[in-house]
Order: sequence, then structure tokens, then C-alpha cells
Amino acid sequence: MKIALVGIGKIAVDQHVHAIFGSDQWSLGATVSRQGAIENIKSYKDFDLLLAERSDIRVISFCLPPVPRFDYAVKALKSGRHVMLEKPPGATLSECHALIALAQKLRLSLYATWHSREADKVTVAKKWLVDKRLESLKVTWKEDVRRWHPNQNWIWEPGGMGVFDPGINALSIVTEILPVNIHLSDAVLLVPENRQTPIAADLKFYHPDGAAVTATFDWRQKGEQIWTIEAVTDQGTLMLLDGGARIMVDGHKYVLEDDNLLSGEYPRLYAKMAALVAAGGIDMDMRPMVHVSDALSLGRRQSVAPFFD
Ligand code: NAP
Repeated sequence: MKIALVGIGKIAVDQHVHAIFGSDQWSLGATVSRQGAIENIKSYKDFDLLLAERSDIRVISFCLPPVPRFDYAVKALKSGRHVMLEKPPGATLSECHALIALAQKLRLSLYATWHSREADKVTVAKKWLVDKRLESLKVTWKEDVRRWHPNQNWIWEPGGMGVFDPGINALSIVTEILPVNIHLSDAVLLVPENRQTPIAADLKFYHPDGAAVTATFDWRQKGEQIWTIEAVTDQGTLMLLDGGARIMVDGHKYVLEDDNLLSGEYPRLYAKMAALVAAGGIDMDMRPMVHVSDALSLGRRQSVAPFFD
């Protein structure tokens, strides 16, 4: 299938292009970007022109920031294209629900991708947790914003979500591995006085069986970068490390045969998109975004030192 990539920025170049080039299911037909381009691939600056000229391209993958994405996705669906969305799938929940309704009406595929769910050990963690009684779960996501998001102004603007841009990755894993649904009960958001979105956040969740579930996200981390989830259960402690790439149980490396042979988060996302298009399906799990939306709604804001790139 021919696919077009829209928004040639960091993640498109770092991951999407390689996943498409490495797949025997996809061929990169064109890109759309005002400044970015990929060597030897037809590049458009005008999305409408691509839609009008390229009836051979049936699938569009959006790597734009969340705020401009909705209008593009609506145009793509209305012109009969299947749509794949980088995380987070939109700037608001309502936008995403509108896209779901449109895709259903037009019988097109729509995929809200959560790349962190495709990290190597997430499925293993889910299988391990399924028959355990959870006592506590603690997410620690601490990274240096200057290293991972250099000069990306959109993350500091309304809809950019600030530290929830990586934090939503942790929440996508938590909602995948826990056998029950949780919901946000309390949040503190630290917002630089010159910015619109949080640089750090502390979250607490209600768990139906009383487990203490918390998350700390912080973009001010220097030195070691930390992306861990610790789950204490009645039968031991599970640690997911490096954003889901490694797993330990009670301090030991844990090995469980995983049936997913395809390696890499983005190759797995594109394989899933191919299956979704073949089956005519929609996959829009909004739970990670509901938690972020609840945190932004319920969170107590504290002003902190200004942030300059
Ligand atoms: P980025 O480097 O800023 O790239 C986004 C691209 O979208 C830009 O290069 C820009 O290309 C285009 N764009 C930006 N604003 C636009 C607007 N208002 N209208 C039209 N086009 C616009 O951002 P990114 O890091 O790749 O992130 C994009 C998405 O991927 C986000 O949702 C993010 O959460 C997700 N993501 C990022 C990472 C990461 O490590 N960076 C990892 C996983 C997922 P032109 O100026 O050339 O049009």
C-alpha cells in the first residue's frame, strides 16, 4: 500500500521513514511538509494538492503536532483516505470522537497509535500482572526536555500538553498492562511562569481494588533519564524499565516467550495499521488521553521558574 507522511519533523525522520522503508507492506508515496522532505520521495507543501493529485495514495500517516492535526485528518477522511495518527491522537477528546464518527460514517480505518505500547516488554508485563493482586503502581518519567524536544515551541502552547507529551506514553503503557480501568483523582501541575503547559506533574489515581497508583513526570531531569513503572503485587514486584524495553521481577531479569517477532515500536505500529486497513477496522483507545485531559481539568497549578530553551 502506498502511504503519505505528513509533518516531516523529528519523529517522522527518526522513526516513521525507517519503519516504512523497512516494511514489505508499505511504500512511501509522498510527503507533505512546509520545510521537511525525504530524499528521492516526492514532496508536497500543500496537503490539498496531494489529495487532489495522488489518488494512488490510500493511507495518510500524520506526524504533525496535535493542534493542527484535526483539520488535516478531516480532509484526509473526507477524501476517502485511511488515517494513522501519532500520539496524542488530537488536541482534545472531542476532536478525536469527531474523527471516530467520521471514519465510521465513511467506512474508513482510523488508528490512534501509542508507540510505547509496542515497546518490547509491555505485553510480557501485561501477562505477568493479569493474575496478581496489585498493591501499588508507581510511574516515574523524568527526562531532559532540552535534549528530547529542542526548540519545539508547540509543546509549550495550549494543546501541546507540555510534560504530558512524554507522560502520555507512560499512561498508554499503564492503561495497557493493568487488567482494570483506573481514573485520575488528584494532580499537581508545575507550570513555568512564561509558558502555557506544565514542565512537571504529580498524579494520583483511583484504583477499584484500592491499590495506590501514582505518576511523576518531570522535564527538568539532568543526567540519567528515567522511564520506569514499578508494580508491587501480592506475588512480587515488577519493574518495567527504559520505557518498556526491559523488565525485572523481584530484581531479576524476567524472561517470557513473546509471540511478537517483529522488532521495534514503529514497525509494529505500521504492521498493525496494515492489518487494520485490511480488516476495515478502527482502533482509537482514548484512555491515555482521558487521564491527561482529567489532569489538566482537575490539576492544581503551581507557577515555577520560567523556562528558556
Ligand atoms: P516536530 O519535530 O516539531 O515536527 C512536527 C512537524 O509538523 C514539523 O516539522 C512541521 O513541519 C509540522 N508542523 C508543525 N506545526 C505545524 C502546523 N501548525 N501546521 C502544519 N504543520 C506543522 O515534532 P515531533 O517531535 O516530530 O512530534 C510530532 C508528533 O509526534 C507529536 O504529536 C509528538 O507527540 C509525537 N512524537 C514525538 C516523539 C519525539 O521523540 N519527538 C516521539 C513519539 C511521538 P513543517 O514546518 O515542515 O510543515
